[in-house]
Amino acid sequence: MTCAEYRAAMSARLDGEDAGGTNGHEHSCAGCARWLATARRLRDFSARAPGPSAEWSEGLLGRLGLGQAEDRGSAEDLDRGEERGEDRA
Ligand SMILES: [Zn+2]
Repeated sequence: MTCAEYRAAMSARLDGEDAGGTNGHEHSCAGCARWLATARRLRDFSARAPGPSAEWSEGLLGRLGLGQAEDRGSAEDLDRGEERGEDRA
């Protein structure tokens, strides 16, 4: 397993998806061990953080040409849906 494969799998796992085994790659790769620790801290931090305001989210969507967020109340749900990139054709 390459570092890139490992990190992709762990990113999915941190998002709550089953990404299969990783063969304990982080135990033999200091770089990925550090990456995993950082990724976990970021995930925990973003889970606790209040997130951007509805106004900020709408402004960003507007600048991206995506129009207004339909759900004004929940930027957090919006983020989760966007990041996962669910386009299973
Ligand atoms: Zn690695």
